[in-house]
Amino acid sequence: MQVKQGKIDTDTPVPTWQDGLDLSNDGQADLATEIMNIMEQGILVWSEDGICELHNTRIFDVLEISGADLTIGTERDEFRDNSLSHGQISDHDRAWSDALIKAHQPYSFDLTLPSGRVVQTSARPARGGGYVVTFTDVSESRRVARDLANAKIMAEMAEGRAKDILATERSRQAEAKMLGSLDEWLQSCKSLDELFMIVTKFMDKLLPGTAGQLYVYSNSRDVLDGVCSWPSGDLHDHISPDSCWALRRGRAYEYEAAAMCFLCDHAKADGAVAPSEYICVPIVAHGDTVGLLHIRFDTGQDGAVHVRDSSEFSVRCGEHISMAIANVKLRDELHDQSIRDPLTGLYNRRYFLDAMRREISICDRKKRSFGLVSFDADKFKNFNDNHGHDAGDMVLRAIGKKLLDVATPDEVCCRIGGEEFAVIVPNADLARTVELAEELRDAIASTQVRYVDGPLPRVTISAGVSAFPVSGTNPQSLLKKADQALYLAKADGRNCVRSAGDAPPPGVAPRK
Ligand code: GH3
Ligand code: MG
Ligand code: MG
Repeated sequence: MQVKQGKIDTDTPVPTWQDGLDLSNDGQADLATEIMNIMEQGILVWSEDGICELHNTRIFDVLEISGADLTIGTERDEFRDNSLSHGQISDHDRAWSDALIKAHQPYSFDLTLPSGRVVQTSARPARGGGYVVTFTDVSESRRVARDLANAKIMAEMAEGRAKDILATERSRQAEAKMLGSLDEWLQSCKSLDELFMIVTKFMDKLLPGTAGQLYVYSNSRDVLDGVCSWPSGDLHDHISPDSCWALRRGRAYEYEAAAMCFLCDHAKADGAVAPSEYICVPIVAHGDTVGLLHIRFDTGQDGAVHVRDSSEFSVRCGEHISMAIANVKLRDELHDQSIRDPLTGLYNRRYFLDAMRREISICDRKKRSFGLVSFDADKFKNFNDNHGHDAGDMVLRAIGKKLLDVATPDEVCCRIGGEEFAVIVPNADLARTVELAEELRDAIASTQVRYVDGPLPRVTISAGVSAFPVSGTNPQSLLKKADQALYLAKADGRNCVRSAGDAPPPGVAPRK
């Protein structure tokens, strides 16, 4: 064998060699031997017949074998059987490389040594049918490659997680923005009707592809009234509180047909297919359950959301709607308190004067008339003195109730002083207003109020009537004319009605 500048000439007959070639006659052979032995790789040359013709000493360290395992003359099959039995080479690599050896093709595979080190085996065919095989310890580079691959996987996972977090954050921000916008609209609602209209418009945008309804408890609290729906949901006029699991359990209820759930009675559509996915969210305002938000997710529309993705958001929508309902109700209550008389529930004097101004403005524009009745309980001081103030209050409440019974909804009934009342009668002239006042007087005169000790004496009223525009064209003049007529009624013996057109009886000076 000759070693020329690190290249093995496989055409030349090869001498046996171990632990350094004895080629002292050739200085170059010594050098080649030395170079081969100090190389990092193990080197082995198989003859065409598969007999070891040459190896360096480094091969023992690299393959973790001893001189007994490999000598010049060792057969390749025996050597490879050993590797196979030690589990260093797999059956697959062995069969595959055998096939390539037969075809005189190069091959390469990794050996895993008992110590765990990995040795890359690369065999190249040499001229003359033999093979030159190199064994390279690639444990470190494989470990680095493995670590790199792991690091890449970890980085990809971290990137995926970061993307998820970013997407979640983006959708959270989008939801917060939409809810903020909903809030802005809800805050500016002046009435519940306006609020329901805004909910209808927004829910379609907030939860696309859903259908839903909003129900609010009726005043009697025995049923909930359907108040709005989207996009065209099957709104029931009324539902019973017992028909909803969310109302019965006092918290949001998610229904999925596939899960262990029970359908709410109100969700069972007559004849139609029962819903497979919905959520019911109780609407709670100031600690009181005031209604129910029902959202159906199984509409099958493009881009439809599912209960699992959207239940939390639905609950948040419910909270915002709850707050808005609470605000409108509170505002309504405060407004109501500012315009109503607490004893009778009738409108107060402030509202009466505003209502008169409004009616004058309308009738002025439309060239219409309206009437005003002003009435006062007769001898009420005596009544209080005889039966007590509480009994007097009770009678005042009864007068208010009778007034509401007799008046039509467009007539404005007010308590404008202690035992003084007034009614604005739209679209009426003096004569029609006198008729109403008579009806009222008669109804009150026949009203019997029961108190602790039994029935109280009947109380009568005296009434004065004026009308726009014949009696006056501003609230003060109209009220003054009605009061002057009332004064005539008192002077005429009480329990009667007088109109602004009537002449004062002889000896009675009209009130200023
Ligand atoms: P007249 O037929 O001339 O109207 O006689 P009167 O006694 O009703 O008239 P007056 O104005 O002198 O007395 C009104 C009485 O109404 C005085 C007061 O005791 C009573 N009154 C006013 N406000 C209330 C109220 O809120 N509750 C009760 N119980 N009595 C009231
Ligand atoms: Mg009075
Ligand atoms: Mg009186």
